[in-house]
Amino acid sequence: MHHICTSNCQHSQSGMTRRDFLTVASLAAVAAGVPSMLAQDPAPPAKAGKAPVSNGGGPTHPLIDIHVHQSPDSMRGGSGKKGGGGRTEAQFVAHQKAVNAIGGVILGGNAYEYEFMKENPGRYVRFAAAGPAGGDRAAAVEAALKGGARGIGEHRWEGDIPFTRAILDMARDYKVPILFHFQEALYPAAVYSEFYKTIEKYPTVTFIGHAIDWWGAVDKNYSVKGGTYPRGRVTPGGLTDQWLARYPNLHCDLSAQSGSTAIMRDPDFAKDFITRHQDKIMWGSDCTCTTGGMPTCWSGIKLVALNFLQLPEDVQQKIYLTNAAKMFGLKTA
Ligand SMILES: [Zn+2]
Ligand SMILES: [Zn+2]
Repeated sequence: MHHICTSNCQHSQSGMTRRDFLTVASLAAVAAGVPSMLAQDPAPPAKAGKAPVSNGGGPTHPLIDIHVHQSPDSMRGGSGKKGGGGRTEAQFVAHQKAVNAIGGVILGGNAYEYEFMKENPGRYVRFAAAGPAGGDRAAAVEAALKGGARGIGEHRWEGDIPFTRAILDMARDYKVPILFHFQEALYPAAVYSEFYKTIEKYPTVTFIGHAIDWWGAVDKNYSVKGGTYPRGRVTPGGLTDQWLARYPNLHCDLSAQSGSTAIMRDPDFAKDFITRHQDKIMWGSDCTCTTGGMPTCWSGIKLVALNFLQLPEDVQQKIYLTNAAKMFGLKTA
């Protein structure tokens, strides 16, 4: 099946540079080596799952993963057979256990049947998404909404084109959130700095942003042409930061390498940013991996990086669990 992240998010475990790894390893070492700091602000016992307490290197909270790409086994031509590609549902479930995810949003899940959804009612929703090209993409999205999808995405931001307007009209009329991937370097017509005009045209639509330009543009000096994963201290005042402050209907997820990099590149800024926008940020994986742990899984990296920030407990509850639970009506325990 279509798997938008393979082509869009440019994530691959082999894409992790030595420097990325060293950054992560340093964070893990710091977190592990400062028990007294952790002890001052102990994580509460997890209410579900098997999360260890005060674990600098792993999950500290039950969480909702709002950025999942997962094919249903029913489309693989039988469990374990090739054809659907990617992880099996069982591998996905094991991955989510490892990061202590108790629910999530299945992007592009359309009207497909998933065993893990049947077994866990109230913990997952499916989003509607069309294939990459060809056919009537808008009709495919609408068919999935009629089939029970509770949001739209993931779709790449392609600029103000008829398809974009069609799915935004659907988000408005069906009253469902819409999740966009921003990467202008690949689609020069989709100018990131113009995106706010669309937010203003759809004030009742709930937008969720993600990916390279979204996180790069927390920095005022971000260059979309330079793209990728900028490093070093953030110069405050970036477009993403301004828009989150300005538009109540704009939200985001922390998924993928872009989210992890944004947390790690400047922890002081990240702590401030997440605290200021604590009601609008949700945890996401965007993982295609099967490990769910350090050092190659983005989710494992993200958990270490977030632990390192030592965010206030109420902020952690929001970004891990309750913001998503409220937006999607999902169980929290
Ligand atoms: Zn994705
Ligand atoms: Zn992973």
